[in-house]
Amino acid sequence: MSVDTTKEYALNLDRQDALAEFRGRFSITDPELVYMDGNSLGRLPKETVDLLAKVIQQEWGEQLIRSWGAGWFEAPIRIGEKIARLVGAAPGQVAISDSTTINLFKLSMAALQLLPNRRKIVTDTPNFPTDLYVLQGCNNLLGGTFQIEMLPVGPDGITVDQQALTNAIDEDTVLVSLSHVHFKSGFLYDAQAITRRCHEKGALVLWDLSHSAGAVPVQLDDWDADFAVGCSYKYLNGGPGAPAFLYVNRRWQGKALSPIWGWFGDRSPFRFDLEYHPANDIRQFIAGTPSILSLAAIEPGVDLLLEAGMDRLRTKSAALTGYMIDLFDNLLSPLGFTLGTPRDPARRGSHVSIRHPEGYRINRALIEEMKVVPDFREPDNIRLGLAPIYTSFQDVWETVGRLRRLMIEGRHLKYPPDRRMVT
Ligand SMILES: *Cc1c(COP(=O)(O)O)cnc(C)c1O
Repeated sequence: MSVDTTKEYALNLDRQDALAEFRGRFSITDPELVYMDGNSLGRLPKETVDLLAKVIQQEWGEQLIRSWGAGWFEAPIRIGEKIARLVGAAPGQVAISDSTTINLFKLSMAALQLLPNRRKIVTDTPNFPTDLYVLQGCNNLLGGTFQIEMLPVGPDGITVDQQALTNAIDEDTVLVSLSHVHFKSGFLYDAQAITRRCHEKGALVLWDLSHSAGAVPVQLDDWDADFAVGCSYKYLNGGPGAPAFLYVNRRWQGKALSPIWGWFGDRSPFRFDLEYHPANDIRQFIAGTPSILSLAAIEPGVDLLLEAGMDRLRTKSAALTGYMIDLFDNLLSPLGFTLGTPRDPARRGSHVSIRHPEGYRINRALIEEMKVVPDFREPDNIRLGLAPIYTSFQDVWETVGRLRRLMIEGRHLKYPPDRRMVT
């Protein structure tokens, strides 16, 4: 498809962007830098700077322990309820606690013990490694009696065959654990259809929303999902290592049992009983004292997303990824890149992966010389994260243009192909 590749066209798209004003509410210290990694670490909302100064100076510095009674204790649920609105969950089902990995562990262990006669766990190989490791660890803890079936990616290198997945979910399946959006390709599952299939067969489903919350519409209650988890530091812009969220459908509360029997999950933490009495609501899945500073930092980013609205965010996200792919076809595909992301907007999240045998070196040169910050995922994916709340169409245009110049000048060739730790 041919697209207008001029800068004027990109600027025009920005002028028509209904969410354009939100960019100014994030801290952007270097206007030349094109940030394409909001799906790994979201930008800093300006409001977060002021809020954290207040939490540190007033709530911690002045009010000290009294702040626990003045909002801190309730914060994991109160802010969780805001995330709930972004992921289509009615009140009382979302809490913020721990990391995504630990939440995966808590909910997987709970799920595996809810249906004791079933032995099969279904997931897929493009899932994020921690999601797979946690399932393996749960199986190990529970005596190694489960069989973990990992559906492979199909011949296109991007999608998992929905029919094969459907067939894998059967009467012996206890848990289906999947990422709603794949972290490498951005492939987006039909979560509603998969959830329905799980329930037809009596299986439970756990959705990892790390690459969808804040970028892709999620309707946990409408899908009738059982469990979900997700990161707060990606599209939610909650800051590095921000605690993650978890969702337990109301029908499992009081039945699903967290494997971590912590005092914050007790019915009455401040009775200091000698025996554990699990809370029969979402609080049971909060293990211990929340990290208040990191938790507080989540709220401004979530407020911005709620203000923007998921419908408008999704519309812009699809426009950004669509524009990126149009420019890709015209300007990058002739230079040896292939597209690693679905072309169908209904099947993709908010990042675009482009693949090249020299992807690692190209990614390094982009960061070190071209002031474009994407990230690299083995073996050859350069991931371009398009966060609809602050990424502009000009950012997309600049990225493609600078990437093209880098390739034509062969700037990547001077970098060694050996991998460094974090990109
Ligand atoms: C980013 C991500 C994680 C990260 O988990 P942490 O516990 O925060 O390190 C887990 N799962 C998926 C699908 C992710 O994209």
